[in-house]
Amino acid sequence: MKKIILAITNEDVYKFIPETDYDVIPATDVADGNEQLERIYRNLSAVLVDIEFASENEYRFLKEFRSDLRFSFMPAVVIKKGRLTAKEAKVFEHGAVDAIDTSDVKEVCVKRLENAIRITNSRTFDEFGGMLKALPSNIFLKDAEGRYVFATHYWHHIKHADDPNWTILGKTDEDIRKDKENAVLAMEADRKVLSTGEGMRYTMEINVDDVLEYLDVIKEPVPDADGKVAGVLGIITDITEQEILKRNLKTAAITDGLTGLYNRLEIERRIEEFIGSPKKNRFSLIMGDIDNFKNINDTYGHRAGDAAIKALADLFRKAGDKEGMPIIAGRWGGEEFMLLVPDMVAEDAAATAEDLRREFSELAFDEGFSLTISFGVTEVSASDTLDTICSRVDKAMYASKDAGKDTVTVL
Ligand code: GH3
Ligand code: MG
Ligand code: MG
Repeated sequence: MKKIILAITNEDVYKFIPETDYDVIPATDVADGNEQLERIYRNLSAVLVDIEFASENEYRFLKEFRSDLRFSFMPAVVIKKGRLTAKEAKVFEHGAVDAIDTSDVKEVCVKRLENAIRITNSRTFDEFGGMLKALPSNIFLKDAEGRYVFATHYWHHIKHADDPNWTILGKTDEDIRKDKENAVLAMEADRKVLSTGEGMRYTMEINVDDVLEYLDVIKEPVPDADGKVAGVLGIITDITEQEILKRNLKTAAITDGLTGLYNRLEIERRIEEFIGSPKKNRFSLIMGDIDNFKNINDTYGHRAGDAAIKALADLFRKAGDKEGMPIIAGRWGGEEFMLLVPDMVAEDAAATAEDLRREFSELAFDEGFSLTISFGVTEVSASDTLDTICSRVDKAMYASKDAGKDTVTVL
């Protein structure tokens, strides 16, 4: 594709430009030049400006051109038939990239123009990199071996990050990171992007220097001129605050506030999960309801009632911590609880319930009262749904109430 050049000059000094590679759009003065610039700058490769126009009004054109971000990647090149004077050398202070003496041989003029275009691109890349540092995210580029080519930030989990003479360039994550495991993961991710040619996004948990951080990592393949993947472009953003909030929210959504056990929704979900999964198929449920609990609230107050509910929850938690007893405990309602006991037949679950019943009845509360609890126990059967197994264990529990409370019934 031909490169487009804007030439602001009254003379045909730009005739050195080969028509085979360039389209020249002429402008007859600075005002015309600016008008054309507005119109075509998106496709423009360079602006040639006659020394007469460049020097006008204290180099106004050059100054404005250089300070306009839209032209960051575009060189302004002064042209003059003959050498610049000492005074005219000022054009370089105001952003001219080169000054071409059009009385030079054509080949020299063309090469200088080409160079101006190329140099401006690399120089502005440097400036652009500097601008990117103002963003809180780390933007980086790695080559096909996972070596850094460019990075806007050095974070504290990088060794030597506080040494101003140290550079990340040419080093890999495994070379530089204090968190070795994450370094390995990062490089695995790079290799995946390089080999599949597909981008990826993941959250990284980092715990270095006693700081817990969550980072959002986005990686995209960078193709070379032949379309082959030659590197990885990435952006890393600190999402610690949102991530912790998200995790807390997730926990809150499945937890009962008073006891810290699972809430009913979650325990139901777990039961359904067990029913649906062939591997975890065998399990039992234990349902418990504190006996005559209304009396406690009425006599000792709501706080005493809450304390008793919490004490019972602690008993369940303690039982679940025992070796080989992976109890999943939830609060079903006010003073009713549901325990899911994986890999356990009803008989063993009943023995566990019996232990819990006894332990609870032996608790002595501050106000001097003690309590009892009634349990129902059942084991899952092949045809069970959430509803059938729950109503069976509920029936078992009510059978214990009918039998005079403080007992365990299996159904
Ligand atoms: P039963 O032996 O038949 O179970 O008698 P009960 O008195 O325990 O009767 P029931 O189970 O119907 O009543 C439960 C009572 O538990 C009702 C309510 O006042 C109390 N309760 C429910 N949730 C809470 C709670 O979070 N805190 C306190 N303090 N009391 C609660
Ligand atoms: Mg009760
Ligand atoms: Mg109840």
